Amino acid sequence: MTATADRPTTTGTASGAGPAPAGPPRPASLTDTFLRGLVERVPGSGGATWSLTEVYTGETLVELPQSTPADIERAFAAARSAQQEWAAWPLRKRLKVFKKAHALLVEHAHTTADLIQAESGKNRRMAIEETCDPVMVISHYLKRAPRLLAPVKRGGPVPLVSTSTEIRQPKGVVGIIAPWNFPFATGLSDAIPALMAGNAVVLKPDNKTALSPLYGISLLEKAGLPKGLFQVVCGEGPDVGPPLIDRANYVMFTGSTATGRVIGERAGRNLIGCCLELGGKNPMIVLDDVDVDEWVNGALFGVFGNTGQICMHIERIYLPESRYDELKARFVAAAEGLRLAAAYDFGPDLGSLVSVDHMQRVHGHVQDALAKGARLVTGGNPRPDIGPAFFEPTILEGVTKDMAAGCTETFGPVVALHRYRTVDEAVALANDTDYGLNASVWGADLDRATKVAARIQAGNVNVNDSLATAYASKGTPSGGVKQSGVGARHGDQGLLKYTDVQNLAVLKKQVMGARPGQDYDEYVKGMLTGLKMMRRTRIR
Ligand code: NAD
Repeated sequence: MTATADRPTTTGTASGAGPAPAGPPRPASLTDTFLRGLVERVPGSGGATWSLTEVYTGETLVELPQSTPADIERAFAAARSAQQEWAAWPLRKRLKVFKKAHALLVEHAHTTADLIQAESGKNRRMAIEETCDPVMVISHYLKRAPRLLAPVKRGGPVPLVSTSTEIRQPKGVVGIIAPWNFPFATGLSDAIPALMAGNAVVLKPDNKTALSPLYGISLLEKAGLPKGLFQVVCGEGPDVGPPLIDRANYVMFTGSTATGRVIGERAGRNLIGCCLELGGKNPMIVLDDVDVDEWVNGALFGVFGNTGQICMHIERIYLPESRYDELKARFVAAAEGLRLAAAYDFGPDLGSLVSVDHMQRVHGHVQDALAKGARLVTGGNPRPDIGPAFFEPTILEGVTKDMAAGCTETFGPVVALHRYRTVDEAVALANDTDYGLNASVWGADLDRATKVAARIQAGNVNVNDSLATAYASKGTPSGGVKQSGVGARHGDQGLLKYTDVQNLAVLKKQVMGARPGQDYDEYVKGMLTGLKMMRRTRIR
């Protein structure tokens, strides 16, 4: 048995895979004029372009300019000049732009979702959910930024006659390198706090998914963001990455652990800060008192949401031995009922993978696991009859750490079921990984489930949810531990990381140090008495 699929009427031929599907009708919003207008802002003085395709059909949507090192240099110069003026705006005036942007982003959510779907192949539900992320980030920081960016006056070393004020200065130009799996969210949401703090941004989206962030930036500008402040450069990562990092004052990177290491090394050499949001191999522990109906629904999203291309999605499920067969049967039946299709409406439960290359990589993980002794419970096949990069929801058993799917991120609709005898064993298995991005624990006894959650080595742990509760909690920092990242987005540090601290200290009277002619023994005695008094009176 495999997941159900809508098979569109077919025309033409797919390369070596039988008749190619016609694909769904393209949304009316995606006219050639609209798409060409979006990519106009990307500099490409060398004349090179990259064919950005609609994933469902493989047809070219638009030719995306590829930026040369000279283009990147000019983008930084323009951003730096716009930043000077932007940083001088009162914070209230800067935040007004984002109040307007909030409304515009909501108003145009469907056009944004059309673009996200066309360039990434994900289903409509995920595309619409993605449009909500920058809006939620704006809401959070509109409330929080005034407090975070306000100068904080503290006492100086000598009470009453000295002060020290913590002042938050923008870093300058923030370079953002974003992946393809949530192109709109990672392109915009990480830029919003950087801009609010008074920085300019130069974004490098993935070539495959540059359209939705470009559209989002046009909406920010419609809301009043000064032109030039938010630049976009495009190209292959190894070409654009180095000149971008070398000019940035801070780098925000989201992507694979392997690339994160390269970015971190370069940022380190340049002595600039960076935040690295990387991959995961995220576990789910199901306790024996789980509410099965709630768990099945939650686990389906955790494993197959965004066709398994969420950094926080679940790739390993640990089920209690005592209920293994029952829980497995319920989960497999639900997975087999998922509707896989290429459509710009809310019908399909699952969309496509992002590209044929990525689909082949995911398929490779499944084939490698099966060749090394894993068992296929359901799925396991590409579905060229639906679209060039579709892949079935896949459940495996018997996956071990010598298999690619057992130790590295698969990043597709593939999950391995494992059984455990004791909770200690489940926790040890969950932690037996180099990654530490997200984890999930399910159980009816919340206290017990929460105690288990606290033992998992991951930057995010969700109790009775797979991932969304942690990610949508914009007030709490969200990042990875171990090989899953450095730093975090969201929370106070999600904005403060884009600032430098200036310690502005004022001494009202020269009281520190011995006065001319003063006996030094006397001075030291006075100073030590003063220190004792300060401790007693708690004056800082
Ligand atoms: P990737 O690392 O291949 O690419 C990410 C971005 O980096 C792209 O824009 C790419 O062009 C660029 N890039 C590639 N090589 C580069 C280089 N040498 N220098 C500079 N830039 C370079 O990752 P991907 O395949 O696009 O994205 C999927 C990965 O992202 C998965 O591992 C996923 O877990 C991770 N991810 C993490 C989070 C998170 O918040 N932790 C969120 C989304 C995705």
